[in-house]
Amino acid sequence: MMGRGCGYHPRLFKFHMTRTEHLLVILAEECGEVAQRAAKALRFSLEQIEPGQTLTNADRISREIADLWAVIEMLDDTGALRMPVNSRELVAKKRARIEEYFKLSRELGTLEDD
Ligand SMILES: [Mg+2]
Repeated sequence: MMGRGCGYHPRLFKFHMTRTEHLLVILAEECGEVAQRAAKALRFSLEQIEPGQTLTNADRISREIADLWAVIEMLDDTGALRMPVNSRELVAKKRARIEEYFKLSRELGTLEDD
């Protein structure tokens, strides 16, 4: 049993993480925030402004992406992540793959264009 005779005391115990570990937690949080804002936009539209807010869901998604990008840069700065030097090429490839899946979805009748 923890807490007795093993040097553990809940009031003394502090959970420490490294700066990189903190950044990874923040990375996960920001990914979640982007996902949450995207879901809200799907439910209520990109143009909707949530009561009590001043920004549209579209603007809020953009800001969450900026938050996410900041953490990515910090992880890259510390060397924890090594963003690919050919990231533009990877982005182009991903865009092409998405367009291929759009084509399939269109053929299956599950996608209508905006
Ligand atoms: Mg955020």
